[in-house]
Amino acid sequence: MARTERIETLAIHAGRQVDPATGAVSPPLYLSTTFQRDADGGYSTGFDYIRDAHPNRDMLERTLAALESGSDAVAFSSGTAATLAVFHAAGPGHIVATHDAYHGTLHQLQNVVAGWGTDISFVPTTSIDSVANAIRDDTRLLWIETPSNPLLRVTDLAALRKLIGDRDIVLAVDNTIATPILQQPLLLGADIVVHSTTKYIGGHSDVAGGAVVGRDHPIMKPVREYHTQAGAVPSAFDCWLLQRSIATLPVRVRLHAQNASKLAAYLQSHNAITQVDYPGLTSHPDHAIAAQQMNGFGGLVSFHVNGDAAAAMRVASRARLFTRATSLGGVESLIEHRASIEGPDSHAPPNLLRLSVGIEHIDDLIADLSQALESIGS
Ligand SMILES: *Cc1c(COP(=O)(O)O)cnc(C)c1O
Repeated sequence: MARTERIETLAIHAGRQVDPATGAVSPPLYLSTTFQRDADGGYSTGFDYIRDAHPNRDMLERTLAALESGSDAVAFSSGTAATLAVFHAAGPGHIVATHDAYHGTLHQLQNVVAGWGTDISFVPTTSIDSVANAIRDDTRLLWIETPSNPLLRVTDLAALRKLIGDRDIVLAVDNTIATPILQQPLLLGADIVVHSTTKYIGGHSDVAGGAVVGRDHPIMKPVREYHTQAGAVPSAFDCWLLQRSIATLPVRVRLHAQNASKLAAYLQSHNAITQVDYPGLTSHPDHAIAAQQMNGFGGLVSFHVNGDAAAAMRVASRARLFTRATSLGGVESLIEHRASIEGPDSHAPPNLLRLSVGIEHIDDLIADLSQALESIGS
């Protein structure tokens, strides 16, 4: 049953209750992998074995479903396991995918899913016409990542829903970058939402996880079946950590977005920088749709330095508060040269640096980038 409280309230109360056995206010961590059968052989608690269902995972799944306005969620051991479950559940046929989706997802589609006999078209989904031209009679799945990364292009989800209408094509949205705080794809017409909970939902760079959330959609059944049969289940402690992190997700994400907005404005005014990619800037090609579809523009900012790859690397190496590391969505700020981590098939320009803006004080973050950018002669 859909809950009607606001997202700040759901983040703290959905999926949780005071423990009836002990009165514990904070959710207990159940390390047990197996659960007692009733005398008549049944399992009236709903739990029998960790891969099928587990109390900490069950709490997390109910919380994630509530945050995304879904009816059902499946929690995985990583975002990558969640995406693979969706591609598997969609069955053989044709997939249309955002051409600049997360590089690991592109890799998975090309190197694993294509081997199952599935045909994949990679298109710039910011153009609805490109999507319309790519759809075929055997298209089973439309895979959208918005905002994409590192260029943070924004795809119009309501327009895609209108385009597919009631055709038998699953509209799946990777909502990792926006989080349910800034964007709720199921309310915009998506059939399912996918997350790497390793990022903002975990939020402290100390847990890996993934999730698929749906609202009464038939694909959730094969997604859950794949989850159990592939054994891509998260540990109890990982679920407990994610549950704990979600309580602060709304405040963290708003602060990430506020810091990122200020940093984007600062970078745009800097003479060592030729371009800033942030959907909150009016100069961004998708600013209008982002403003309409999202409640804030997120915590990622990319910028192009006036120089080559070596100049960009020099800036990254001089930053002190921004740690040179991959990933995103943690409380600490990170800086990354995407072209070198993604390799030769990267879409990232060589002079681009991506920031995962943390929740440190904005003035300290600006001061740090300011001194790092002194390495670029202007
Ligand atoms: C990180 C990420 C993934 C993959 O998740 P893992 O938890 O690393 O397996 C998928 N999509 C996006 C947008 C991501 O940022």
